[in-house]
Amino acid sequence: MLRAGPLSHLPARVSIREVGPRDGLQNEDVILSTAQKIALITCLAETGVRHIEVGAFVHPRVVPQMADTAEVFARIERKPGIVYSAIVPNVKGAQRAIAAGADAIQVFLSASESHNRSNVNMSIEDSLRQAAEIAQVVRGAGKLFDAVISVVFGCPFEGDVPLERVLEIARRLVDLGAARLTLGDTTGMAHPRLVQEVFLAFAEHLPRVPVRFHPHSARGAGLANVLAALEVGVTRFDASVGGIGGCPFAPGAPGNVCTEDMVHMFHEMGIETGIDLPRLIACARNLEALLGHELPGQTIKAGICGHLGPSGQPRAADQRAVSA
Ligand code: ZN
Repeated sequence: MLRAGPLSHLPARVSIREVGPRDGLQNEDVILSTAQKIALITCLAETGVRHIEVGAFVHPRVVPQMADTAEVFARIERKPGIVYSAIVPNVKGAQRAIAAGADAIQVFLSASESHNRSNVNMSIEDSLRQAAEIAQVVRGAGKLFDAVISVVFGCPFEGDVPLERVLEIARRLVDLGAARLTLGDTTGMAHPRLVQEVFLAFAEHLPRVPVRFHPHSARGAGLANVLAALEVGVTRFDASVGGIGGCPFAPGAPGNVCTEDMVHMFHEMGIETGIDLPRLIACARNLEALLGHELPGQTIKAGICGHLGPSGQPRAADQRAVSA
C-alpha cells in the first residue's frame, strides 16, 4: 500500500559547503596551478555558495596537490559573507592556516583505529590529544574551530563502526570547543537507514551541536543518503563541484557527491540552496577542461530539467560559457 512519507516535512533551505578545491583536488592526479585554483575558487564564489574549503595545510610530500594552499589564500579575492576554510592535521598546520587568514580551521580524525592509522599514522587517542592543542591555537586566534570525523558509516578496514564510539569521539571534540561537527562517509559505505540512525543519535545525545553530512558516492548511494539525512532534519551538506575527488580505496569509483547534482535535486524539490545552478555548472565545465577528463557529475551532462529553475534561468542558460 502506498502512503504519504516524511517528504512532506522537509527543511525549506539547506546550506552547502563546497569542498572541491580541497577534498576534490586532493584526490586528483592532475595538479592545478595556483592561478587555476584561484580561478576555480573565484568562479565558485560567484555562485552564491557561502562556504568554500580552500585547501589543506599538510606536508607537501604527503599531499603535493595542496602544497600551495597558503599562496592560494593570499591571492584569492575574498567575497564578503563567504567562509573560506582549511583543514589541518597538526598544530603547525593550524598556525600556518591562521597566518594565511583562514576563517575556519578544521581538524580531522577517523572513527576507526585502522583508518586513522592509515590516514594520519597515529591512534585516535593521539589524534584527540593533537586536536586539543589545535583547538587551543585556533580558538586563541579567534577563528572557528571545526572538526570532521571520517569513516563514521563504515571503515574499509574494519567494516561496521560502533555508533557509541562515534558519539564518544564527538563528545570529546565538542568538549574541546568544536563549533560544528562533520560526519564523513569517507569511502561511500553508508546507506539511508544507517544515515538516519546516526543523525538521530546525534540529535538525541548532542542536540545543541550543529552537524554536517559529508556524503560520498563510491557505491552510488550518495544522493539517497543526502535525502535520508534531510528527512531527519540535517540541513548542512558537503559537496564537490563536478563530483571530483574519487575514492582512494576504490580506484575508478566516484568520491564526493557532486555539488551540481545535489543542488539540482534540492531545487527541483523546492528546497533553497542560495546557489545559482547555471553558474555552478559553468564552473564544473571549466574545471573539466582543466583536469582533462570527464567528471563524475551527471547534471553537467544532462542539463537542468526543462523549466525555469529557482535561479530564474532558462534551461539553455546552463550551456553558456562563463569565464573563470
Ligand atoms: Zn570527501
